[in-house]
Amino acid sequence: MSLLNPRAMGEHVSYGELDWRNEFLGARVRVALWLRDEVGEGGTFRKQEIRAVITGTEQVDRRMRDLRPAGWVIRTYRDKPSLQPDQLYLEKIGQPVWEREHRAAGLRQISAKTRRAVYERDGHMCRRCGITAGEEYTEGAQSRARLTLGHVTPYKHGGGVEAADLITECARCNETVQHLTGVQMSPEQVWDRMAALSGPNMKLLMSWIAVDRRHLGKAEEVWALYRQLPAEARDRLAGDLEDLLKR
Ligand SMILES: [Zn+2]
Repeated sequence: MSLLNPRAMGEHVSYGELDWRNEFLGARVRVALWLRDEVGEGGTFRKQEIRAVITGTEQVDRRMRDLRPAGWVIRTYRDKPSLQPDQLYLEKIGQPVWEREHRAAGLRQISAKTRRAVYERDGHMCRRCGITAGEEYTEGAQSRARLTLGHVTPYKHGGGVEAADLITECARCNETVQHLTGVQMSPEQVWDRMAALSGPNMKLLMSWIAVDRRHLGKAEEVWALYRQLPAEARDRLAGDLEDLLKR
């Protein structure tokens, strides 16, 4: 597709028309229509092409992510080595989110009850990096972790919104996992780090891989609970623990 597509220039589009040029449609619907009409299944495109033609798509990653639960499959160079790093591949057009009955497809809300249950189950801790709410990231000390929910299988069609489908993540891990073209390591780079682990760490990692989750150690479990307490209570317990250790 060319950015100099003459149809993109000043063509009149009326209200309600299912055309990506229709500014009355939401960004998600417009992106979907653009992908259908200008890229097509099996076509490649670049994010900046979307940004250039659809206003309000600064968060183009997010718009594309929103299509995934509706069955749209968009691949990056990490999935398909034949692509350029900034190229994306439209593998599958999912549900027609431009049709009224499909507009909300995949955007079902997670209930407050489910949200609480997942946080509780996961010990109020990011299951990917282990950070707890409000804790500072070790690098870049000015940013504190905010917990959010991620999908266990983010790329799969129709990821559900029940507790079993969800995982507690900090906002940073959530971004890393979900971003289509965020900075992420190649399998080779990850393997280098895996292979460099000590024997016990390698076994520990293998045990997490086997059950597809990271077990919390006893100390980590208590740490997560401790972090949920108000500052005053944390100070008191810290003092008590220090005393206990001195005995
Ligand atoms: Zn995290």
